[in-house]
Amino acid sequence: MDVSCQCGAVTFRTATPTPLSVYCCHCSQCRRQSSSAFGISAVFPASALPVFPDSDVYSPDLRARLDVFTRPGNAGRTLDCYFCRTCGVRVVHRGRGPDGSPLPRASVKGGLIDGLELKGVSHIWTREAVVPIPEGVVAWPESPPADSRD
Ligand SMILES: [Zn+2]
Ligand SMILES: [Zn+2]
Repeated sequence: MDVSCQCGAVTFRTATPTPLSVYCCHCSQCRRQSSSAFGISAVFPASALPVFPDSDVYSPDLRARLDVFTRPGNAGRTLDCYFCRTCGVRVVHRGRGPDGSPLPRASVKGGLIDGLELKGVSHIWTREAVVPIPEGVVAWPESPPADSRD
């Protein structure tokens, strides 16, 4: 899938044609991060994204266009949040385990992906939602029980 930040300095194609899963996250962190009502995460194998040195398709040139903001995540994890150095748009999140080793999956911010299908996606952290949750979707008050986001 084709990914591009707002200014176009960070542009790449994922090495797999579809995400493993897609979430709309209504937590307060995602709301602040997106400066909007909720965040959208499209989860891919980290190996399919050219951002990471351990990826099959790593691009040092692309990586040089990104900077990283790191914050604590769930369950003793750390979350590395990659953003465009030029326009500041958040592009990819990847967690690290308590021992510091990167997790096998990473999430691309959904609004940057051309043609991302959002019909029927899961909604999480709905207890913090500030907009109505669509009828009939899979929804969780907090993180899903088996947290496959990272
Ligand atoms: Zn940019
Ligand atoms: Zn969230």
